[in-house]
Amino acid sequence: MSKSVNILGVSGSIGTQSAEVVNNLGYRVRAISVSRSIDSAKKYIAELKPEICAVEDEALGNELKKDVFGSGVKIVCGKGASCVAASADADVCVNAISGFAGLFPAMTSLSHTSRLAIANKETLVAAGSFVKKAAKENGTEIIPVDSEHSAIFQCLQNGDKDVKRLILTCSGGAFYKKTREELQNVSLASALDHPTWNMGGKITVDCATLMNKGLEVIEAMHLFDIPVDKIDVVIHRESIIHSMVEYVDNTVLAQLGSHDMRLPIQYALTYPNRTESLSEPIDFTKINSLSFDAPDTDVFPSLSLAYEAARSGGGAPCIMNAANEVAVKKFMQGEIRFPDIYNVTKSTLDAVGFYDISSVDDVLACHIMSTLAAEEISKSYIISE
Ligand code: MG
Repeated sequence: MSKSVNILGVSGSIGTQSAEVVNNLGYRVRAISVSRSIDSAKKYIAELKPEICAVEDEALGNELKKDVFGSGVKIVCGKGASCVAASADADVCVNAISGFAGLFPAMTSLSHTSRLAIANKETLVAAGSFVKKAAKENGTEIIPVDSEHSAIFQCLQNGDKDVKRLILTCSGGAFYKKTREELQNVSLASALDHPTWNMGGKITVDCATLMNKGLEVIEAMHLFDIPVDKIDVVIHRESIIHSMVEYVDNTVLAQLGSHDMRLPIQYALTYPNRTESLSEPIDFTKINSLSFDAPDTDVFPSLSLAYEAARSGGGAPCIMNAANEVAVKKFMQGEIRFPDIYNVTKSTLDAVGFYDISSVDDVLACHIMSTLAAEEISKSYIISE
């Protein structure tokens, strides 16, 4: 059955792969959005023939308008344009925007689609309970795209009762087995060298600090309504098992697949059905072994910090996420050292302290305040040559 789809953040890693999957499935694209990548927007306007293309950067959006004049696509541009794309009625809205910027488009989409396929974990980390509440009110289902959460979602199709714990697998990132000392002066290039997955910059740095796994723990807590202390993380370098569910009788169900994001993207689009995919099958005779290890939270304390933030509740996960976004950006710009991503995040959490959150407006206020606090705090970590 052909479906109509919106792809928010179409120029990113998940966005481009979503476009590929949607094309392969023969689904129709109604709206796409980009932040600034108008070359990518042009490519997808030609390829996917959407009715609407949103560009967050107004000047670049106006440039695009001239470039595609006469093609029939409606270009909307300026801050918040992604929300306009999210408001186009469609069967599925894929939210592949990176970072907190995905929150309002996600909230907007909930009343314009029957399925939000969510790849944007920061939205759930910062505002999970509000997103879920709005989804429930609108009768919209939220289907995970993140590979670990897709795996758990698939395992839970066999029964979501009597679950003892969720086990998120983690590649270990670029700096697996490194010591604290060795991490002191690691370069951005080495942080971006992920062992198995090929992804965007922010998430790859998050993988290297293990903050990505911390964000995913909180994401899982919201998606599957499970206490954070019933979610464990295990290092699994090969990224073949995408995550597992352990039941009270100690049976463990796992979902396996090649490390190809097109697989979880497609499942989020076709669920509850399956169809042939672009992903390669696993050749088990070529896998010598599957290895497992405990994460080293002394060297990678960001993972423990995420658990603490989840246990604290209120605005803590939002503060942590905002501070991490600032710190990762500073690291990527060469302004702070890799270990200081954690230090800035932790110090911001301590400095902002408790933040009572009872609405999405509160989440936004908390995010803005925490971003400013993290900008200020990161000044004391600037590398002086
Ligand atoms: Mg993931």
